Amino acid sequence: MKCEVVAVGTELLLGQIVDTNSSWIGEQLAAVGIDSHFQTKVGDNPRRIADALRLALSRSDAVIVSGGLGPTQDDITRDVIAEVMGVELVHDEMVAAKIREMFSSRGREMPANNLRQALVPDGASTMDEQPGTAPGLVCPMVVDGVDKVVYAVPGVPMEMRQMVGGTVMTDLRRRAGDDATIASRVIRTWGNSESGLAEVLADHIDRLDSEGHATLAFLASGVEGLKVRITAKGPDQASVSRLLDAEEAEVRAALGDIVFGVDDDTMESVVLAGLARSGQTLAVAETISGGYMASRLTPAPGSHVLLGAVVATGDAVRQRLYRLAEVEVADSDRGSVAEAAALAEGVRQMFDADVGLATAGLSDTRRPSGEVAVAIATSSGVDTVEWRLPRDHDRVRQFSCIGLLDRVRRTVIAADGR
Ligand code: ATP
Repeated sequence: MKCEVVAVGTELLLGQIVDTNSSWIGEQLAAVGIDSHFQTKVGDNPRRIADALRLALSRSDAVIVSGGLGPTQDDITRDVIAEVMGVELVHDEMVAAKIREMFSSRGREMPANNLRQALVPDGASTMDEQPGTAPGLVCPMVVDGVDKVVYAVPGVPMEMRQMVGGTVMTDLRRRAGDDATIASRVIRTWGNSESGLAEVLADHIDRLDSEGHATLAFLASGVEGLKVRITAKGPDQASVSRLLDAEEAEVRAALGDIVFGVDDDTMESVVLAGLARSGQTLAVAETISGGYMASRLTPAPGSHVLLGAVVATGDAVRQRLYRLAEVEVADSDRGSVAEAAALAEGVRQMFDADVGLATAGLSDTRRPSGEVAVAIATSSGVDTVEWRLPRDHDRVRQFSCIGLLDRVRRTVIAADGR
């Protein structure tokens, strides 16, 4: 089974939008072993979309098209598919009713334009998932005597993912004659490079390749760390879950404490949950990270543990925190571990928290930017560390915060042992 991806949208060609849909779809296809040899981007032009579709259909069994299913005149994907199928567009009253209902549930009347979205190529079916107004389309067709299919999904990533993850993958795997159950689990890690992980897991991957029940893939995810995705295949859900559990245990044993969570866990949710388990509260003072830590912690599950956060950029607030910590910080110590320690202890006192965290650093010429100091203050003392990070302000903010949370996980939470 071969499946191509065609992303429709002139913005994609002009570089106004990055085509993340195609890469996500590519990942899903690879995970279930469907070959995907071509990905095409094409502008909102009927002739060129038709050319792209015909070419894709000439060399693959299935094509997933994303984008161009909106209500406006330049949303022409459904028209072009009908032309390639050699059929008319027909009005689908069920779809029209669904769209009308979406508008009326928000107290609005459906604009006439949206009726375009209820037009479906004759012989195509619509997908059950429909989070927005655009229905996904399953368009079977015969090309040179061979059964093929085009799936059309909206460009909006959230809508596209629901449809591809649901109807499209199920239908593709049925067409490929694959009735096995497939599931994935993502192991979240922080603190090793991709090549480092690959080296540690090399023997394990070789063994998996020879056995053929499960695969491992590495996904470098910037400030979110490195993800190791385990995909397992089996006759039913229970056997796949057993395989995933066994693989997860082996990966965790091989990687040790760089593993901080699985699937939807984030560094902040793991740290907050760890602190909550031991009944500890948290306060944060940030200079160099300018509120990034607070913005990650406040929406996370378990954020009730965070008693407060201060963006301590002004002189007065810094001095106040130094005084609460009962230390003096010389001007020449700005941005150093000495300042980070004073800020962490000061903010711990300010909010009467069990754990105080601080990020400090200088973004002026006194020290090379990228050098940051972080500190963790608890009742038993202050732990500090200095890192040299890439000279890029966003990355400095992100990596200092996630690195600091990781240090909390490895020290305060690990020491608690729960
Ligand atoms: P809608 O019904 O919402 O108009 P649509 O099918 O017409 O959906 P487009 O208008 O092509 O989709 O795209 C809607 C938005 O989805 C774009 O503005 C863009 O933000 C995002 N988008 C579209 N294509 C892609 C893509 N290939 N990768 C990532 N994002 C995309």
